[in-house]
Formats: sequence, structure tokens, C-alpha cells
Amino acid sequence: MNQPLKVLFIASEASPFCKTGGLADVMGALPRVLRDRGHDVRLLLPRYEDIDQSRFRFLPLMPELVAQYADRRFVGSVLRCNFPKSDMPVYFLDEPILFGRPGIYGDGRFDFPDNHVRFAVFNLAALWMLKGLDWQPDIIHCNDWQTGLVPALLRHHPVISADPFWSSIKTVFSIHNLAYQGNFDKYLIPAVGLPWDVFTHDGLEFYNKASFMKSALVYSDKLHAVSPTYAEEIQVDGQGAGMEGTLRGRANDLHGILNGIDQEEWDPETDAHIACNYGPSGLEGKAACTRALRERFALPDTPEKPLVVSVSRMVAAKGFDLISDALERLLELDAQFVFLGSGDPLLERALTEAAAAAPDRLAVTIGYDVPLSHQMVAGGDLFLMPSYYEPCGLTQMYAMRYGTVPVVRRTGGLADSVDAITPGSLRDHRGTGFAFEPYTPEALVETLREAIALRSSDKPTWREIQHRAMARDFSWSQSAASYEQLYQALTAAP
Ligand code: ADP
Repeated sequence: MNQPLKVLFIASEASPFCKTGGLADVMGALPRVLRDRGHDVRLLLPRYEDIDQSRFRFLPLMPELVAQYADRRFVGSVLRCNFPKSDMPVYFLDEPILFGRPGIYGDGRFDFPDNHVRFAVFNLAALWMLKGLDWQPDIIHCNDWQTGLVPALLRHHPVISADPFWSSIKTVFSIHNLAYQGNFDKYLIPAVGLPWDVFTHDGLEFYNKASFMKSALVYSDKLHAVSPTYAEEIQVDGQGAGMEGTLRGRANDLHGILNGIDQEEWDPETDAHIACNYGPSGLEGKAACTRALRERFALPDTPEKPLVVSVSRMVAAKGFDLISDALERLLELDAQFVFLGSGDPLLERALTEAAAAAPDRLAVTIGYDVPLSHQMVAGGDLFLMPSYYEPCGLTQMYAMRYGTVPVVRRTGGLADSVDAITPGSLRDHRGTGFAFEPYTPEALVETLREAIALRSSDKPTWREIQHRAMARDFSWSQSAASYEQLYQALTAAP
């Protein structure tokens, strides 16, 4: 076995405590998997008001933790609990002024105006906390912009960088989504205690803003993107949200490792949310899930027409502008559609209005509903995910595990996880989903039309595709070994 390592994960969300997207799924699984492999892994989160404390046993750990931001002194504390069904410690920074309000990043419509203060203090407090606990990890594994100042603080904060307590700690930064960067007014720099020297093009300056993301990309020891294709794409001009040059400069340190999924939570054989459990050996249960979904949305019970589902943030990046543009043509296809999600109010409205006009073909639920998301992944025949870009994407993997055939745009993690169906691949008994490349309504409609036609004309081939999709191994154990290699390379380095 590899040398056991001490790793602190820092993130702004983790299932089952607080979640807005895929980051939470990853933080709810990867740290635990690494801990089960013998490493001393711990997780630090902000203690948001929305975390339902009655579900977890929080204990006080550090009664007082002070972090300074400009002339404001934030006095918080640290709570801890064990991760459910695990002995992994989870630490929570409890600072009511910054985190004691409803919402994680915003109030539902707008981001909080003090997010730079909230997460700068979170980053500083993370480092003070380690010293307070006298726990010196080998690696701090940061995730997304909300944790991006940690690497800069370790290297350049006058107190932290001069103290041997922190000097041997290495950093890994995971890019879950490069589009969210945390770029703020440059006075963040002195406010968090960093010297102006870092505010350069080679440092964390980004178009005259102080960027959490750029801080992470420049100062972390290793970088990780959540799929190999995304790791390549973000280095290409026009696809790296302005950071492509910085990323190309760090190409040797940038590794793409595909996310896994929690195969216990997403298991059609045991899923408690769905109408009927089923497995690869018999898909009758899946038909019952489809019927239940049709019934719930009062869609005519027409099993010959496939049920096309989508569970997603309803934003352009997820391809919802494409869906919206193509909607009329989609509704002419021989299929029914059910969409669950929320996001851009204009897209929400367009879809809701279309559903009201075509209630026999389209149902739309605006909102965030975990049980329904499971029911849709189980009850769908096809899973639609035409993302403009997709760092990794998890829902297409959930869909495949439930025998729901994905229809995706070939980008990022979708390209890495969906084995595209072509006439050639079918002859070789390969292919787990449909993929198209051009980001156009035509390509989307035509690919969906192809999928629908194959399903109705060739049932045995369709079953074969479903079985192949269900047999794919998306467990974390594959990628956990790659993370270990990344860590070992770092800790072995001088
Ligand atoms: P992203 O992180 O970009 O939103 P991912 O596919 O990586 O996309 O992860 C999305 C996660 O959020 C999945 O677990 C998905 O099931 C969940 N999710 C997205 N929208 C909803 C919704 N409206 N209701 C319930 N779960 C949702």
C-alpha cells in the first residue's frame, strides 16, 4: 500500500450537508473513499445556516477562531462531526455574520455582495485552524474559487509563509468549473493580508481584479480538472474563460481525472426514491418507474414513445438555450419530455409556457427536488444533456447506471464518460449513448431523432445499449488511485 497521507479537503459545499451542484457530490464521496483507503482525510466546510443541524451531531472543537479582513476582526469557532456512516472528521467554520444567513452563495436571485469577504475569511481561517489544532496535513486539497486563496496565503502571507508549521504543506487545486472565478476588487489583497507583489499578471491579477481562481491556478503545487478532455479544452484559446494562457503555462502540473459517482446513493436496485427497484437482469421495474413518472405529470401512457428527461441547472452552459431554441422541433418528435431544474428566469419561463401549451408532450418542474431527480433518472428512456461545456457532469453517469440512454454534446466529461453510438460502434457491440458535436439546434434535434428511431425500430439493440450503459463502472475506486498518485508525486518531490 502507498504511504498513508494526511489530507485536508476544503470546499464550499459537500453532500449531504449543503449542495447546489456536482461539487457537493464529489466532496461527499472522494474524501471518504480516500479515507477508506487508509489516509487521514478530513474535510472543512463553512457552517451555513441552511445545514440541517438536527441531522448531524455537531460538537464544539475550537471555541474561538479569529480571522482579520481589512480592519474587521471576525470571531468564529470550529464545530466538528463525523461524516455519516464514516469516521471521517468534518470541520465547520462557524461565523454567524458571514455564514449565518439563508443561502450558500446568494439569496436565490443574486450573489451575496460580500462573497469575497466570506470566502477570504474562510480561506484564512482554514490555515489558522490547522495551527490551532496542531494538525499538519501533507496536502491541502482546495476546490473551486471559494478556496482559491489558500495557495497564495501559504506562499505569500507574511506570517503564514514565514512559519515552519505551514512550510511543508503542499496544495492541490481541483477545477470543477472554471467559469466561476471569484474576481473581485483588488483591495482584497491587502485586506486578506497579502503583499501587493502578488498583484501581477504572473500572480493573481486578472484584468485589474484580484482573482481567487487565478491565485489557485498560479500558486497551487498541482492542478486537477475533473475530466481529461476538460483539462485539454481549457488550455485552448476561447475555451478557458480567459485563463487559458495561465493554464498552458502550467500544463505539466495539470491533470485530468474523471469524477466517479456514489454508486450506493445512485443504485436502481436499492434506490428508495423510485417506484420500483430494478437491476440489469430485469428492466420491468424500470417500466414501472416510467409509468409512475408519466402518471405524476399526467402525460398519456404511451410506452412506444420514449420519455426524454433532463435534471439540470437551467442555464445556457447546460445547453438550455439550445433546448429552448429547438423546442418547437423537439415537440414534433415522437416523444414526451420532462424537465426538472431552475436557473435562468427567462429559460424557466420559456419552458414553463411551452409545457402549458403542450401538456401531453412536455412537463416542467422548476425547483430543486432530490427524490424527483432520482425518479426521473430511473423513469426516463433518454437523458438529455446538450451542454455547451461540461467539466465532468455526473447526471449522465447516473442515467447510464439506471439504463437511461444519454444524449449529450461531445464536450468535457461528457466526451469522456459517454461512449458514442455510431453504426460502427453498434456493429462492434460498443456505445452507451448518443453524442453530437456542433452546438446547434439542428444537431440536437437530429441526434435525438436518431435515438428515437433506433429505440422504436430495433428493440434488441436498444436493450443491449441499456445493459452496456448499466455495466459501466463509474465507481470512485478507479479515480481514487489516480489522486493517490498525484499526492504521492507531490509529497515525494523535494
Ligand atoms: P453541475 O455541477 O454543473 O450543476 P453535475 O452534473 O456535475 O452538474 O451535477 C449536478 C448535480 O445536481 C447532480 O447530482 C444532479 O442530480 C443535481 N441536480 C441538478 N439539478 C437538480 C434539481 N433541480 N433537483 C435535484 N437535483 C439536481
